[in-house]
Amino acid sequence: MEAAAESGRIAVPAGTAKALRMAQGQRVRVVNSEGGQVVDSWAFRASDPTEHLSMAHSRSATYRIFFRVGDVLVTNRFRPVLRIAGDTSPGFHDTLHAACSAESNRYFGAPDPAPNCEDNLRTVLAEQGIHISAVPCPWNLYEHADVDAAGGLHDRPASAAAGDYVELECLMDLILVCSACPSRVGAISGAGRAPRGAEVVVL
Ligand SMILES: [Zn+2]
Repeated sequence: MEAAAESGRIAVPAGTAKALRMAQGQRVRVVNSEGGQVVDSWAFRASDPTEHLSMAHSRSATYRIFFRVGDVLVTNRFRPVLRIAGDTSPGFHDTLHAACSAESNRYFGAPDPAPNCEDNLRTVLAEQGIHISAVPCPWNLYEHADVDAAGGLHDRPASAAAGDYVELECLMDLILVCSACPSRVGAISGAGRAPRGAEVVVL
């Protein structure tokens, strides 16, 4: 693998994404630096990016639809990829919604089709020489989507405070991608608020 990220803070400006190469055993914090912001996150196996963090496989592995501290998340080949080592936020991290994309913006009638998390992901992976044919469902850190007893899915504004973070332990060499989601569909990052940035801290 190419060199893993060194310890330090990496800013993820509003509406953009960053990709970091992480080594097995490294820890990283995804920080809600300004509060109330959804951060779409992905992890790809460094040696073979067709293997990636999978929400469907992780729901099966944990028997949960929303993951908690201590849970081990797995790839689409059921290999452990991330352990949730800490979470200072209220703990809502959606696993059900697709990433926002030019197509989703058109589908929902959002006025401005760009930027979006799917394009962000493809862009930062391409900078690492990686081209993916399909976009995995992201782990939507801080996105608060409730499921009711009838199976209805309801978007709530992200309730994370400024400085809240999720700490992850990497269980394989991987490429972590975090996108400070610019979507305003469902007011997931707060009604009427401009998208904000995030921060990734490599410990
Ligand atoms: Zn998004």
